[in-house]
This record gives sequence, C-alpha cells and structure tokens, in this order.
Amino acid sequence: MQALTNRSQGVSRKPMSFMERLYIPAILKGMAITFSHIFKKKPTIRYPEQKRPFSPVFRGLHVLNRDEEGRERCTACGLCAVACPAEAITMEAAERLPNEEHLYREEKYAAKYEINMLRCIFCGLCEEACPKDAIYLSETFAPANYTRKGFVYGKEELLIPDPKTNPEGYAAAKGSK
Ligand code: SF4
Ligand code: SF4
Repeated sequence: MQALTNRSQGVSRKPMSFMERLYIPAILKGMAITFSHIFKKKPTIRYPEQKRPFSPVFRGLHVLNRDEEGRERCTACGLCAVACPAEAITMEAAERLPNEEHLYREEKYAAKYEINMLRCIFCGLCEEACPKDAIYLSETFAPANYTRKGFVYGKEELLIPDPKTNPEGYAAAKGSK
C-alpha cells in the first residue's frame, strides 16, 4: 500500500548484538541524560508564590472602567455584547436621574452588566468595540470556583475601584492594564 506521507520509519528486525543484550550501555546512556537535567535551570516555578511575567498582549479578566472622577464610563450601548463572538455579555440599561451625575458619566448607564467567564474566550473584541473606554482586559486570572454561577461576573466584580474612595486600588487596577 502506498504511504500517505514519507515520514514512516522502517522497523529493524536484525538480532541484538552482545552489547545490546547486556543493556548496560543503554542504561548508562539513559542515566547520563537524567543527570544532565539535574544541573539545568528548572522550567517549573512555585506557583502561586512565584509568577511568570505576562506577555504584553496577555488578556485576562475584564475591568469596567471609571473616569478620573469615579463615574462609571459604560453607557450601556451594547456594542461589546454585539461584538462578542461567545455571546458572553448581557446588560440592562437604565436612565441616569438628575441627582446621579456623580455616579454615571453618560445619560444612560448599565444597571446590570454581566460576563459569563465560562463562555468568554478572552479575545478582547469587547474592549476594541467599546467607544467609551469603559471596558478593558486586565492581567488577572478568573479565580477557580466550585459552581458555574460563580463564573458569571456582575458589576460588583467587574467595576474598577473608585479613585476617590480607594485611590490605591484604582491605581493598582490601572497599572495592571
Ligand atoms: S473577551 Fe471576547 S469572548 Fe470575552 S466577553 Fe469580550 S468579546 Fe466576549
Ligand atoms: S462597555 Fe462600552 S461597548 Fe459595552 S455597553 Fe458599555 S459603553 Fe457600550
């Protein structure tokens, strides 16, 4: 039968030599390879105490952004949800009331905003689609959870800390952008 590729290897059926039947040279060769790895730099790290640096293009957990005055930037336009290929984003819009200007930047805001992290493929299209710089993907992993519901992140989990009430948390979140 004709081979599909030229990568097939022929099997040698020749009888083993005396040295091959001793197995000692093969064992010594194997031990030499094992010992040579003892002095090499270890590729494993002690995670989570040690962490590898992320690639500059790493895309992790989403953050819903605020402006410098602490107001939520999202205007619930839905472009991120439309752009999402995994249909992971859902939201409900609400109208800003006259006394809520300090909370929401635009006249319309997301009263509910959820991302299902089990659906998300961390492609970053939501970030690219957003016209308000209201969402970005940080360098944080979604932590493990025991329930599927625990992977549906709401505004409480996604919103960046308020720069007025928690400037350190805000700066840290911004720094990991
Ligand atoms: S990163 Fe991609 S898959 Fe995840 S929510 Fe954004 S658009 Fe959807
Ligand atoms: S995050 Fe951006 S794209 Fe998504 S609803 Fe809010 S403003 Fe629109």
